[in-house]
Order: sequence, then C-alpha cells, then structure tokens
Amino acid sequence: MNKASAITVPCPHCKTELVWDSGNPFRPFCSDSCKNHDLIAWANEEHNIPGDSLHDDVLSRDLEQDF
Ligand SMILES: [Zn+2]
Repeated sequence: MNKASAITVPCPHCKTELVWDSGNPFRPFCSDSCKNHDLIAWANEEHNIPGDSLHDDVLSRDLEQDF
C-alpha cells in the first residue's frame, strides 16, 4: 500500500522536487543557496539595477565591492 504522507513540492527557484518537511528550514526552497538566490533576485528587482547579472552570481555578491 502506498501512504501518501510525503508531500513533495518543486523548489520555486530550481524546480527540484523536495519533500515538504517541517524540519526543513529552507522551505519552500530545496536549500539555503536557492533561498538566498531568490531573495537576492527579489532585492535586485526591488532596486532595479540596470544590466546587472547578480541573478546568476550569488556567491560573488559578498565579494563584490564598489571601488
Ligand atoms: Zn532549489
């Protein structure tokens, strides 16, 4: 018998199916990086930075400095 107790949802960012686990601190994302990626993408839209590529360059964001 199949018990449909495991609910899976697609990560909003990378679309990876993940089990909806109340112990997952990254819900509804699959990982911390996806969660941060989405927040940064949102922040970039909010600030409306023209021609920037930070959407795909999350990890370098902390390293970026405005010299
Ligand atoms: Zn993801």
